[in-house]
Amino acid sequence: MGEGSGIRLKALISDRVDERLISRLRSELGVEVEYRPNIARDELLKIIDGYDILVVRSRTRVDREVLDRAARLRLIARAGVGLDNVDVEYALRKNIAIVNAPHAATESVAELAIALMLMAARNLHLYVADVKSGKWSKGAYKGIELRGRTLGIVGFGRIGRRVGELGKALGMRVVATDVIDISEHAKRLGVEVVSYGELLKVSDVVTFHVPLTKDTYHMLNDDTLRLVKDNAIIVNTSRGEVIDAEALLRHIDRLWGVGLDVLEHEPPSTVHELELLKHPKVIAVPHIGAETLEAQLKVADEVFENIREALMRVVNNG
Ligand code: NAD
Repeated sequence: MGEGSGIRLKALISDRVDERLISRLRSELGVEVEYRPNIARDELLKIIDGYDILVVRSRTRVDREVLDRAARLRLIARAGVGLDNVDVEYALRKNIAIVNAPHAATESVAELAIALMLMAARNLHLYVADVKSGKWSKGAYKGIELRGRTLGIVGFGRIGRRVGELGKALGMRVVATDVIDISEHAKRLGVEVVSYGELLKVSDVVTFHVPLTKDTYHMLNDDTLRLVKDNAIIVNTSRGEVIDAEALLRHIDRLWGVGLDVLEHEPPSTVHELELLKHPKVIAVPHIGAETLEAQLKVADEVFENIREALMRVVNNG
């Protein structure tokens, strides 16, 4: 591997990553790096056969078409958490290793979820827009306090647990649901474990922290939205596909507010998504969960270490 072993690996980075990852790949592993953060799909398909390593975030779709053309590819690195833009099963079948950076964004995403809850609770987006347009609209949009209210966490993994801790610090009652046994973590954090249906019924704030799977796709839909309390706040910093935006739009008037970092289509393209985003109760930001100085550095280091380890394995196995 790298300069020491005489093999010079070539990496294509097809999404925007921190400079630190590029320089560490070059200097510590001797990898020849091509940085094309805005590469168009057609171009990617044309050149992918020349690379051993492909580094992506969520923009690049690594599907069968890409993988079938990637004759030399030994490793896909996702500089982030979710692997839903990579056809993992097909890549593994082709003996291509996959690594990601599952821990790096935890704190940043959890803090964003709390920020969206607080913004929605106090209607900050409406006040900020007014003040910026020269309107001193004191008292126009009454807020609510979060202390004493119930926070429902759907998916009690890394991010969900951190949101739970932060919710506790705000004086909230915290309930959580998951498909795996979370009782140990829940006990440690003073969180009650409930079913998904129960969570929707009792929570004043519902926040989603699940991966995108066939079971989580549109898990908030017309049927489940009917269980949600009037004046609840819904927050989604996981994956857009978890919420059926069309159904959410149908229920929006009886909710207190909605905070979205993610959408099924990014940028938004469907009529109901665009309508939802225009609604005064909706606060939306463009998938910025991991867009902090700290998260980007942590992602670069975590994915680098995982690339280094994976290359060792690839080289050792011939
Ligand atoms: P994690 O794997 O640590 O936790 C996810 C949890 O969800 C697991 O405990 C899992 O068992 C649970 N789960 C799976 N299916 C479920 C279901 N049907 N019902 C209830 N629980 C279910 O993952 P994480 O690091 O906490 O990340 C959570 C989500 O946040 C992922 O979707 C990830 O892609 C997303 N994410 C978003 C950003 C962003 O920029 N907004 C950044 C990082 C991660």
